[in-house]
Amino acid sequence: MIRVENLYFAYEQYSILSDISFHVETGDIVVILGKNGSGKSTLLKLLAHLLSPRTGRICYEPYDTFAKHVAWLGPEYLTDIYFTVEEIVEMGQFPHHTKQAYSFLSEFKLEALKNTLFSKLSSGEQQRTMLAKTFTQDTPIMLLDEPFEHLDLEHQIELRQRLLSCKKTTLFSSHDLNLSLSFATKVMCLCDGKIQAFGNPVEVLTKEVLYKTYHTHFEIEKTDTQVRLFTGSNP
Ligand code: ADP
Repeated sequence: MIRVENLYFAYEQYSILSDISFHVETGDIVVILGKNGSGKSTLLKLLAHLLSPRTGRICYEPYDTFAKHVAWLGPEYLTDIYFTVEEIVEMGQFPHHTKQAYSFLSEFKLEALKNTLFSKLSSGEQQRTMLAKTFTQDTPIMLLDEPFEHLDLEHQIELRQRLLSCKKTTLFSSHDLNLSLSFATKVMCLCDGKIQAFGNPVEVLTKEVLYKTYHTHFEIEKTDTQVRLFTGSNP
């Protein structure tokens, strides 16, 4: 479904990502982990065609219109914009030339706010609006940069459930390790612009990989299907 081969990217002379190769199957939910500045957003932007790799290839299955195939949620957005919640959610339908946002307004509990200006919302409400827009786009692939950011616990759990049940191929970044690992089918650990580990979280996450990724000591609890992480104190 998505194949990435030998990707290299630099902002001007600053090398950010190198030797990035991986393969994502249809229906995979991949969480991208890494410290601030490790290249998670840059990788998602490359996958969203918002940046072009210096070398290497990103191959998707054939599609007619990119915006009908791949949706992207950025980590931050312009907040000083004069559109209402409903208008923004409807923008997700532009690639389909329709305006049917109502079900997503309701799913994200935004009906009461539909006529409110985006700039007047709390950060959590803005995040739910942008998520509703992304889901309204109804693409088989979603690239989400910190989708859980600003959400309260109830909405975090609802988003987790929605991502699990929508059966889309999803790549997302997150700093909420246990929430993400409770439903991701694959994990990618980025460090110094390279992939330290990629695959089933139970198989690939080790104390060594996590230390390289976060420079923090973790205790790991594993069952056959689940991983839970606990931060210890660094010596
Ligand atoms: P992450 O999402 O893991 O926090 P980013 O992909 O946002 O990391 O950033 C990776 C590195 O690239 C950081 O060192 C950041 O300062 C740098 N960077 C990000 N965007 C730009 C840009 N537009 N121009 C120059 N450097 C950038």
